[in-house]
Amino acid sequence: MYPDKVFYEPVALTYELGKFLKSKFENVPWIPVESHNSIEQLQKNPNKEFPRMKRYLIIGVRKSLKYTPNNKISDFLVPYTSSGCSAMCLYCYLVCNYNKCSYLRLFVNREQMMDKLIKTANRSDRDIVFEIGSNSDLVLENTVTGNLEWTIENFSKSKKGFLTFPTKFDMIDPLLPVDH
Ligand code: SF4
Repeated sequence: MYPDKVFYEPVALTYELGKFLKSKFENVPWIPVESHNSIEQLQKNPNKEFPRMKRYLIIGVRKSLKYTPNNKISDFLVPYTSSGCSAMCLYCYLVCNYNKCSYLRLFVNREQMMDKLIKTANRSDRDIVFEIGSNSDLVLENTVTGNLEWTIENFSKSKKGFLTFPTKFDMIDPLLPVDH
């Protein structure tokens, strides 16, 4: 069963999602780390550890919430609730960017991210589109966190704006009844 181990920033356990994950995965080892960005014991691993490391889950707080103008399929690329991924497609660009550390990292401060999305959407004089899935596959992440139901239901309260996220997975049953 995924994950084999959890590496976590202790502050993450003060958030609602952090507490949920702690109780969901209480039967695997939890190892405290200073920063989700730099886990020395994993960085030192040889490349051949890559498949094993994909089975680790990293939990922390996302500090940079800076949006990047996109102007292609959306107005902005938005750093959202995860980066990296627990899958292991051999052509994945994440492997090029993160090398052996392309494991799934979850960020528990989703309320702060949602607040920024809604405020930015409502400040605009038109409906703008936020791409929230450019750092990870959120449908796959959702099987661990339930974040997509939470996200869609909360963003549906915004008077303006749209969210978009691409996926290659089909675990969408929990999303179909959601008020969007
Ligand atoms: S599902 Fe997407 S993000 Fe995950 S390993 Fe495959 S290509 Fe990479």
